[in-house]
Parts: sequence; structure tokens; C-alpha cells
Amino acid sequence: MDFNDSPEEAAYRDAARKWLETNAAAHKGQASASGRRPNSPEHMAAAKAWQAKKADAGYACITWPKEWGGAGGTPLQSVIFGQEEAKVGVNYGYFTIGLGMCVPTVMAFADAETKTRFVKPAMRGEEIWCQLFSEPAGGSDVAAARTKAVRDGDDWVINGQKVWTTGAQYCDYGIVLVRTDPDVPKHKGLTMFWIDMHDPAVEVRPIHQASGGSEFNEVYFTDLRVKDSQRLGAVGEGWKVALVTLMNERLAVGGSSGPDYRTIMDLARQVTGPAGAAIKDGAFREKLADWYVAAEGLKLTRFRTMTALSRGQTPGPESSIGKIIAANQMQDMSNQGVEMEDQYGILADPGEAPMQAAFQQSLLWAPGLRIAGGTDEILKNIIAERVLGLPGDVRVDKDVAFKDMPTGR
Ligand SMILES: Cc1cc2nc3c(=O)[nH]c(=O)nc-3n(C[C@H](O)[C@H](O)[C@H](O)COP(=O)(O)OP(=O)(O)OC[C@H]3O[C@@H](n4cnc5c(N)ncnc54)[C@H](O)[C@@H]3O)c2cc1C
Repeated sequence: MDFNDSPEEAAYRDAARKWLETNAAAHKGQASASGRRPNSPEHMAAAKAWQAKKADAGYACITWPKEWGGAGGTPLQSVIFGQEEAKVGVNYGYFTIGLGMCVPTVMAFADAETKTRFVKPAMRGEEIWCQLFSEPAGGSDVAAARTKAVRDGDDWVINGQKVWTTGAQYCDYGIVLVRTDPDVPKHKGLTMFWIDMHDPAVEVRPIHQASGGSEFNEVYFTDLRVKDSQRLGAVGEGWKVALVTLMNERLAVGGSSGPDYRTIMDLARQVTGPAGAAIKDGAFREKLADWYVAAEGLKLTRFRTMTALSRGQTPGPESSIGKIIAANQMQDMSNQGVEMEDQYGILADPGEAPMQAAFQQSLLWAPGLRIAGGTDEILKNIIAERVLGLPGDVRVDKDVAFKDMPTGR
């Protein structure tokens, strides 16, 4: 394991840092108060402008091939830029799923005409993509999808429902996993298509969250007609295509931002109770030590991933460890932070609440992070099977035709 940047990596970091210093400050300076509110039209416009600026400088999709507008860079350069970008506080989530998962799937499976039409506008933030996989009966078990597509001449007709689709309300296009053959086992009867989210046969219903926001949606398809040329991969090979998307998902969702042990240490220095400053409290100090140890462990695990990338290797399933630890720690620490703020802990407005409501927001976000991109239990199964070599989960429906699987009805 090598903790230091190589000379080339250090030069890349330096150039990225300089570019960010100049451009992020100017960009943030232009934002109005409403432009700082996520999901407002001004916030979206600012996100698109920042994405286009990055694209012009070769920082939008660093690992993508130059022929599709990327920078032809290494995964490690992408990680380095991400680390530096996180430090300047310009962080928009609108493009993560599209550029991290959907468009790479389009690049891997679509024809040249489709790629020419869609890849660059997505990279520049002009068009946004969503991932339509999860359904009421198929989340962890994505291959249990029931939304179906039936062939009709040169078209396919899609009917069914997806759920938890992040950003569907503002997305222009999506990739959708559908069942095209119910007579074969579940993994074998799936096919993937790209779709136009503005088609009138697509109905998006935002889900109201505890945080007050509506980041994800239910999406209904009623006789949605798509051309066969919108198919990604062969008929019946949708699972293979989905695995490419899901592999990218683990990398895109893996990290987490939000308060860390330093933030809660700051808060503990400011808060006093009947027994004095919170930072002096023995029980709190014990927790702080645990968070510090876990954070150091995470940092070193990330170094392991970065070393693999630096050597041109692919990071293994051990990146699953990072998400389990980070998400659980975020939930535990945020809970403590909100409690320490006492009655002010219920204030969620960053302008009013202590520490800019960092703990309030991460407390509401942490459970989602523990589910998105693989729940804790699913990631533990992956670690058990693929890292520790323990026996696999029992899969009784592997060889059963999808139509014969019990549904509870
Ligand atoms: C913030 C967020 C954003 C999301 N965005 C999208 C999106 O854009 N597009 C999309 O398609 N989906 C999206 N999802 C959905 C997400 O992929 C699913 O919620 C997730 O895969 C879990 O599926 P589920 O909710 O159906 O839970 P289930 O799969 O029903 O799981 C319920 C419980 O059972 C456990 N469980 C399930 N199977 C096993 C097993 N084999 N062994 C042990 N325990 C098991 C789970 O860990 C969980 O605790 C998003 C979710 C979140 C939270």
C-alpha cells in the first residue's frame, strides 16, 4: 500500500486544485440565495453551468474515452479530482446516477448513432438520465422485475411500475429493466431499453420524504411504445446489462459526505450541560474514539482501493466494507449531534440551526445511504461470499420459470 501520490498523480492533483480554486470561487459567488436550495430551478441551472464548465476543462467525465468527449484519464485521476472538488464545496448530485451508471451502460451496449446522439449532451449536463430498476416486488432482488415489455412489430410495448427512481421528475431519459420472457428463470427473461422520460405514457409521481424533500419517485408505464433500436444488449440478456450498471453503482454510491468526527468534536467543545462541556464527558469521549478509529480504518481501506487503481487493477468487493461502515457511522454520529444540540436539534434550516444543520440533514439521509446501492445485509452477503469465501445465500428460485414463482396472491 502506498499512501503518497506518484509524481504524475501529484502534478494532476495540483493542476486540478488550481483549476478548482479559480473556477469554484467564481461559480459560488454567482449563486443567489434561491440558487443554493437543492431542486430549485436556479440550483439546477447552476449545476448545469458547473457541469458544462468542467466538461470544457476535461474534468466532467475523466475516464471516458476522448472520442465521446471524456478526458481519456485513469480511474485514479477521477478519484483525485473528486477529492479536490469535495473540498471546495461545489457539489451537485443531479448527474451522479446518469453519468456514473446509465450513460456508461449506454456507451457499453448502444449503437454508434445512439451514443453520438446522447453521450456528449449528458456529459455536459444538458440532459439528465435516471435508473429505472427497483420495483415494489424487486429491490435487492432486481431480477424479480415484473414490469413487462411485449413485442409489437418493430416496437415494444411497456407496462408496469418502478419505484425509488431518483430524479425521475427532472430527468430527460432513463434506462429501464423489463421482463420480456416470463417462461424462463428470472435472470434469463429480462431486457434493457433506454426511454424518453417526457413520453406521455410515462407518469412520474414524486414520493414525499421525512426530510420534506422529494428526491425519488414512483414511475408508471401505460402502453409505452419504444423502438427495438432503443434496446441495450440482446433480448433476454438484460441481467448481463444490469450487472454493468450495478457494478458502476457500487463505485458511484460508495463514498459519503457529511459531518465527520472533527465536526462533532467542534460541536462538543461548544455545548455545555449540567456536568460541564460535552467534550469532557467520558461516555462521549468513548464514542469519539470509536468514530476516530473507524474513520482511520476507512481511510486506509480507501488507500487500498486507490493503490489498486494506481496499479491499473480493478478494486474488489471489499469496497462494500466502506459503504457499510460509513453509512452506519453517519447515522450514529448524526443522532448524537442532534441530541447534543438539544431543542435546536429539531431546526433543519441551515441558516438557523447550529453547525448549519449538518447533523439534521445527515440524520435524515443516513438510512437512505444504508439502502441505496445495496443494503447493509446485501453488502454483508457479498463480503461473506466473495471476500471471506463463506457458503452462498440459498437461492431456491434460480431454476424456476418466472411465471411459476409464488407471488403471495
Ligand atoms: C436514496 C435511494 C436512492 C435510490 N435510487 C434508486 C434509483 O434511482 N433507481 C432504482 O432503481 N432504485 C433506487 N433505489 C432503490 C434501491 O435500489 C432499493 O431500495 C434497494 O435495492 C433495496 O430494495 P428494497 O427497498 O426493495 O428492499 P428489499 O430488497 O425488499 O429489502 C428489505 C429488507 O430485506 C433485506 N434483504 C433483502 N434480501 C436479502 C437477502 N438476500 N439476505 C438478507 N437480507 C435481505 C434487506 O437488506 C432489507 O433490510 C434507491 C434507494 C434509496 C434509498
